[in-house]
Amino acid sequence: MLRPSRRAVLLTLATMLIAAPAQADDKLKAVASISIIGDLVKNVGGDRVEVVTLVGPNSDAHVFSPTPTDARTLGGAKIVFINGMGLEGWMTRLVAVSGAKLSPIEVTAGVKPRREEGGHHAVDPHAWQSVANAKIYIANIRDGLTKADPAGAAAYDANAKAYLDKLDALEHEVRETVGKIPPDRRRIITTHDAFGYFGQAYGVEFIAPVGVSSDAEPSARDIARIITQVKRQKIPAVFMENISDPRMMQQIARETGAKIGGTLYSDALSDANGPAATYVDMMRNNVRELAKALVP
Ligand SMILES: [Zn+2]
Repeated sequence: MLRPSRRAVLLTLATMLIAAPAQADDKLKAVASISIIGDLVKNVGGDRVEVVTLVGPNSDAHVFSPTPTDARTLGGAKIVFINGMGLEGWMTRLVAVSGAKLSPIEVTAGVKPRREEGGHHAVDPHAWQSVANAKIYIANIRDGLTKADPAGAAAYDANAKAYLDKLDALEHEVRETVGKIPPDRRRIITTHDAFGYFGQAYGVEFIAPVGVSSDAEPSARDIARIITQVKRQKIPAVFMENISDPRMMQQIARETGAKIGGTLYSDALSDANGPAATYVDMMRNNVRELAKALVP
């Protein structure tokens, strides 16, 4: 057999290099509204999908205002994933402005909605804070990608299965870690009501001065009410959130003597170097921070 000439090898390499960008363009262009969903889409999409996230790490989807760049990103997308349940109020207008001919896929389809307690019973959009719900997100993402790119069906199915196994292990770890906290200490304060699904699933009570959307400012009376509650119920710790101003929690800790726990990641991942750069790491970080502050 003849060895290929050096020239032929070089020509082949050059062709491959030129072809590389075209291959990148062949990827399915997906947009995710928030970083948590973006990470889930990457895990199911693997090599076939290019994912862009609109609301980045440590950013607040409740008060997001899209830019013309976001409209262009959306205009070039083949598929868009949103949480739904009222989280992305800005999305309908953004889709219209972008000229995209698609309707966003709600990854919470099939999740049992939790309603905010008290006042106006708004639907709580933070369903990802329960791992069982994240498994529903994965199924919806797999089905959406498969519909948009039928040739990738087997790959999306295999990726989803592998990731669901990771979520099973994560769920086990979360339950085991919460189990180490004495039941009478499973009660904490956070800034906004983002951990209702976590609380329901794992038996921790979260009390928040701000409701299920972070865009409302708590009144002095709201804060005073929380301070009284922390003292009366001897709530052991208050926690910061990566998307919220820490000052209110610091004030509550100061006036009640409650311990300041670490930072919980509620609505967004950390940046790549932080402790919550993926969904799995976010859940793991949060439950470890709870245990650190609450296990005596
Ligand atoms: Zn929120």
